[in-house]
Amino acid sequence: MTTSMRSLPGRRPFLTAMMSILALTGLVAGALTAEPRAKDLFGAKKLPAVAAAQSFGFYSKGCFAGGVAIPMDGPTWEVMRPSRNRRWGHPAMIALVEKLSRDAHADGWPGLLIGDISQPRGGPMLTGHASHQIGLDADIWLTPMPSRPLSTRQREEMSATLMVDEKTHLVKDGLWKPMHTRLLKRAASYPEVERILVNPGIKKKLCDTVTGDRSWLRKIRPFWGHDYHFHMRIGCQPGSPNCKGQEATPADDGCGKPLAWWFTEEPWRPNKNPDAPKARDLMTMANLPRQCQTVLDAPAPASAEAATYHGGGVPIAVAAEPAEALPTAPAVPSDAAALPASASAFAPTPEIGIPLPRPRPGN
Ligand SMILES: [Zn+2]
Repeated sequence: MTTSMRSLPGRRPFLTAMMSILALTGLVAGALTAEPRAKDLFGAKKLPAVAAAQSFGFYSKGCFAGGVAIPMDGPTWEVMRPSRNRRWGHPAMIALVEKLSRDAHADGWPGLLIGDISQPRGGPMLTGHASHQIGLDADIWLTPMPSRPLSTRQREEMSATLMVDEKTHLVKDGLWKPMHTRLLKRAASYPEVERILVNPGIKKKLCDTVTGDRSWLRKIRPFWGHDYHFHMRIGCQPGSPNCKGQEATPADDGCGKPLAWWFTEEPWRPNKNPDAPKARDLMTMANLPRQCQTVLDAPAPASAEAATYHGGGVPIAVAAEPAEALPTAPAVPSDAAALPASASAFAPTPEIGIPLPRPRPGN
């Protein structure tokens, strides 16, 4: 009795520690099992949220409503890896990709092979990108569209040309053509485009070869990967007060010191913890802007075709689900109506905004 009485105080810290560990383990297990991951919820959505186009949050932490798809084929583009269903974006982005395909074609680029844009409602993806979450990012291949139409299978399986040598981080000899430069210059020429991410080797190639107007090089930003495609990012669009923009790029051409860093050993050191989970693998709805739950719950259009952009000034008919299913909460004051009608898939319902978030307990 005395022994156990004496031993108890000594055990208490141990017990307390055990209890805390158990409680923590429970929390972690709860987070992993009970709380669904946002990437699974958004990855399961096959169709966009019917509402006025609006981006919520940041490029790597957000979602969007009112998404439209670029058609699988156009006169000057083809969508690659169609099974991923990532040909969705903010209407302004989809309209811009279509415009780039026409302008680039006029510049002598055969046509665009379009890579990932976003999932229908954005959000974190099951695989791949950290960004592309708010409908304002698009990947375009640096391989020109072949003269013969690609079959669905070819679009899934055709491999891209890697433009950059893995060891030297320089563009491989003979692969870079003036038409590649023209394509990037054209993409950078649009005021909506804030950044274009390319491999440092490609940035260096441009720095070393572009003559005349070099002001557009400011938007061309070196980044890991991006050796077979470039990544075009547009700014937050009108009507998206909850979209978080990125800080402006420096005013100079970016060819000096910041680029030189990429040709040191530092950026290429092996990842010390390659198996650590990525943010997108852990994010739950609680990590995203609260409006993303509304986006997730919003009704879908009748079909993908009903939300597919056909551009060229032709109004887009959206056969939405029954009207009473549409969100009817007061629209967030926005100038979404200022978007050109042809750029908004949901032009027939301009008054409907994404509803204000429902009050949630504890918020
Ligand atoms: Zn990208």
